[in-house]
Amino acid sequence: MALSKSELFEKRLRQVLLLIACFTFTLITYVSISSFAAAAKAGRSDGFLILILFSYFFPIVLLWSSFRILCMTFLVPVSLIVITLGSVATRNMNILLMIPLEVFFCGLLFYHDQKNNATLIHADVELEKMTSKKNDLEIAYQERGMSISVSFEKYTSYYNLRSLANDFSTTFSLSNLCQLVVTKIVHLIQKGDLCMLLMSEAETGSLSLMASRSSSGAQTAKTKVGDLFDFWVLRNRQSLIVQDTQKDFRFDLKKELDLSSVRSLIGSPLLHEGKPIGVIRIQSLRPSIFSTDDLRVLDAISTLASAAISNAILFQKTEELAIRDSLTGLYVQRHFLERLREEHRRSLLTNGPFALLMSDLDHFKACNDRYGHGVGDLILREVAQILSEVAKDGIVARYGGEEFSILLPNSDVVAGAKVAQTICELLVAKQLVIRREHIPITISIGVSAFPSDTLDAEELIRIADKRLYEAKHSGRNQICFSE
Ligand code: GH3
Ligand code: MG
Ligand code: MG
Repeated sequence: MALSKSELFEKRLRQVLLLIACFTFTLITYVSISSFAAAAKAGRSDGFLILILFSYFFPIVLLWSSFRILCMTFLVPVSLIVITLGSVATRNMNILLMIPLEVFFCGLLFYHDQKNNATLIHADVELEKMTSKKNDLEIAYQERGMSISVSFEKYTSYYNLRSLANDFSTTFSLSNLCQLVVTKIVHLIQKGDLCMLLMSEAETGSLSLMASRSSSGAQTAKTKVGDLFDFWVLRNRQSLIVQDTQKDFRFDLKKELDLSSVRSLIGSPLLHEGKPIGVIRIQSLRPSIFSTDDLRVLDAISTLASAAISNAILFQKTEELAIRDSLTGLYVQRHFLERLREEHRRSLLTNGPFALLMSDLDHFKACNDRYGHGVGDLILREVAQILSEVAKDGIVARYGGEEFSILLPNSDVVAGAKVAQTICELLVAKQLVIRREHIPITISIGVSAFPSDTLDAEELIRIADKRLYEAKHSGRNQICFSE
């Protein structure tokens, strides 16, 4: 073990002390013995000898603290022997007084050491106590740090979810919302190659892609319909984690060739009024990419997304209700006029044509009077259905009681007249039998067109109305337009 600088210095100092002490001890012993010998020869008892013997205290003190055993077993006994011999040789009994003096002196040193030892033991105990206290504090500090970081993580995820809920509530457009959801998921989870949101179609039960985003931010996805993993999530209404598609016995990939490259994925269902309406999924081309924590985050986001999507669906339904006529399912007049203004603005920019048809059932009052309002309503529904079928690409509205209007984008007056003619013919051909009686349904239609008739939208309605009036006056069951 390498010694520190101070320890090395201490070691060297002890060696020097040992050398000095040994040297002085030998010197004193030599001087004492030779002085004793000279004094004995001269037959005198020399007081000077006592002084020399006193100097024995010097090496003893010097070595006591570090080399106590050496002192006790060699220095002190040798000095005592020299003192005794000196006293005998010089016949000076006073020198013997040095013995109790030296013993007393050693006793003092010993007492001092004991006291020091007790202090040191006490200090050691205190140090041990302090160390264990420090360790306890360190552990408590670490635990506190951990609990702070856990709290921070919780706070962060709570904050993220809260801001997500806020973000999701900013849009009622279903397609925008779906895009926002996948964007947020890619940003928050940051794993996998592709995130997709698929929604199921109520009638067919098939899944179609609403939004997708790759980890690089692109909006492309190879899969436009759901696969066996999506349908598993939808069917079971629970989230799914697959660490390796090639080892997961739950799924038979042989049937789905497209999936061979997808190695791991997580998926979570979207629910609306407790029913599964879609799936959010993240996939990767590498195995074991996702953890259960990622799935938990995806589940939390799916729950928020479900609520937002439910709201968007309800909003869409409410909006539909507001723009649709309850009896026929056609657009109401207000919405029709909005769409007309839109189409008019677009056509002004593109200079493209569009046709407007205003129609009115012939002698409908008489029909009502004869067969009753119920039959009248039935006729209105039948007519609405025929109009919708004939003008598939147009905007068909119930303009008033038994009046219908049709907007035909990208159609000139001839195309408009053709549609009008078809409607008239189909209604005549319609075999509506009530109480074994065939009810004839005929309609009169006025046709106007942009830009051949006028460039003004309001004027277009007036012209079509005027032509409808003309058609009525010309005997009904006919169309009126101007080439
Ligand atoms: P014309 O050929 O001149 O148009 O004759 P008409 O009888 O159709 O003329 P009019 O506009 O006077 O009559 C419209 C009738 O349509 C009056 C009303 O009883 C009926 N009607 C309007 N709305 C409804 C409805 O929602 N249901 C039913 N059953 N009838 C309706
Ligand atoms: Mg009318
Ligand atoms: Mg009428």
